[in-house]
Amino acid sequence: MIVMSRPDLKNFRRIVVKVGSSLLIDAAAGVVKETWLEALAADLAALHAEGRDVLVVSSGSIALGRSKLKLPRGPLKLEESQGAAAVGQIALARLWSKVLAAHGIDAGQILVTLQDTEERRRYLNARSTIAKLLEWRAIPVINENDTVATTEIRYGDNDRLAARVATMASADLLILLSDIDGLYDAPPGANPNARLIPVVESVSAAIEAMAGAAESELSRGGMTTKIEAAKIATTAGTHMLIASGKIAHPLRAIAEGGRCTWFLTPANPVTARKRWIAGSLEPKGTLTIDAGAVAALRGGASLLPAGVVRVEGHFARGDAVVVRGPDTHEIGRGLVAYDAENAERIKGHSSSEAARILGVHGRAEMIHRDDLVVGVAPA
Ligand code: GLU
Repeated sequence: MIVMSRPDLKNFRRIVVKVGSSLLIDAAAGVVKETWLEALAADLAALHAEGRDVLVVSSGSIALGRSKLKLPRGPLKLEESQGAAAVGQIALARLWSKVLAAHGIDAGQILVTLQDTEERRRYLNARSTIAKLLEWRAIPVINENDTVATTEIRYGDNDRLAARVATMASADLLILLSDIDGLYDAPPGANPNARLIPVVESVSAAIEAMAGAAESELSRGGMTTKIEAAKIATTAGTHMLIASGKIAHPLRAIAEGGRCTWFLTPANPVTARKRWIAGSLEPKGTLTIDAGAVAALRGGASLLPAGVVRVEGHFARGDAVVVRGPDTHEIGRGLVAYDAENAERIKGHSSSEAARILGVHGRAEMIHRDDLVVGVAPA
C-alpha cells in the first residue's frame, strides 16, 4: 500500500472553509469573537490573494440570535430556533461582510435548504450562483436557512452541509474548523494516551467507530457528523481536513504544518463528479450533434447550441441527457442547461442568437463541459 503523505495547502485551487458556532460565538459573554474572526478573515484573504477560490460555510445564526435575544439556556422549540436564526443570521452576515471588506473582498450570502442541494434543478441553480460569485472574486458565505428549516427537512449540522457545498462547488478541499484539532484514536478528553490521526486514507468502519458524540453544547455536529462529511466529500473527489479553530490564524497554522487530520480522496474532483453524471442518472432525452461538435467535445470543450442538430425527449433544465454523434453513436452524457422546448428553439444557433431567441441571457452552453462526460460506452 502506498502511504500517502499530508498534502500541501498550496496545491488546492478551490477551498471551502466551515466555521463552527462555538468558534464564532463566546457563549458565556453572548458575543461574537470579533478579533478571532478578523484573524480568520486575514487568512481567507491570503488564500484569496493567491488566486484561490474561497467559500465559507458559517454556522452561528441560532447561537448568535439566542444570545442577542437573551433566550434562556436549554433546548429551543422549532419556532424559537427559527426566530433566533432570523435575528442571528442578519448579524452574522453583517459581520462577515465587514471582516472581508477590510481586505477589499465582497461577501455574498447564500442561505440554502436541504432541497437546494438534493433536488437536481435547484442544485444546479445554487451552483450557478456560487460560480458567478467566484467568477466575480467574491467569497460566498453559506449557511442553512434555519428560519424556514423544519425538524424533518433540514441538514441540522453544517458539517454535512459544508460537504455538500464543497461537492456542489467542485471544490478540491474542505476544511472543517472545529473545537477539536482532528480525529483521535480514542476520546482525547477521557484518555491521555489518545493519539491524533494525521492522515486518513479512506473512511473505514474502524475510522467511523472512532468518531464519538458531540462534545460541545453550542455546535450540533460532533465527530460523527464530521466523519459523515468526510464520506460525502471524499467520495465526490474532495479532500477534507479537520483542524482546530481555537487559535488565531487557524488556516495559516494548517499551511505551516499545524496539527490536523486529513481525509484523502482517491479521485480527483472532475472524475468523481463525472462518474456521478455518467453513472447515477436516468437520461431523459437525447441531443444529436454534428461532426464538428463531436470533435470539440472530444477535445474537452462544452457543447454549444450551434452544434446540436436534433433534440429528442422530455427533459427539464438540469436533467441528464445522452449526446449522440451524427451516426447515432453515443458520445457522452451530461446535464443539459435548457429544457427540451428551449433546446429545440436554440439548436443550431450561435450562443448570442440563442440569447436573442429566448429573450433572456441564459447559459452560453447547452451542456457545460463540467457537466459533460465524454466517452461513455454505447448503452
Ligand atoms: N445552521 C446552524 C446555525 O447557523 C448551525 C448548525 C451547526 O452548528 O452545525 O446556527
